[in-house]
Amino acid sequence: MSDNLSEIKKKLLKEKEEIELVLKELQTKNTVLNESEEITSEVSDAAEHYEEKDLAFSQTEFVKKRLEQIDNALDRIEKGIYGVCLKCQKQIEPARLQIDPTIETCRFCSSKS
Ligand SMILES: [Zn+2]
Repeated sequence: MSDNLSEIKKKLLKEKEEIELVLKELQTKNTVLNESEEITSEVSDAAEHYEEKDLAFSQTEFVKKRLEQIDNALDRIEKGIYGVCLKCQKQIEPARLQIDPTIETCRFCSSKS
């Protein structure tokens, strides 16, 4: 594995660790919000409650998606196909990978979709 690639792998693993922590917190929050549902009787409280629940839910979805992207990138490193565009099989510009190491398509393909 090249130095550059192991740097990227380190970066991905670090972000994964952080995201897993965030996900855990969000899931705890979701559980608490679900459990407190039955005891929320006031209408105004309920509205606030659902708003908070919605937010926690969309945050969870976002974090899960990010985790999936990271796992996919790690998987591509293992398979030796990291940095190759999924659509045209050309090398992805290193500058793009610098910005987001989980990126899956080259500049050309991503501008098309
Ligand atoms: Zn491409």
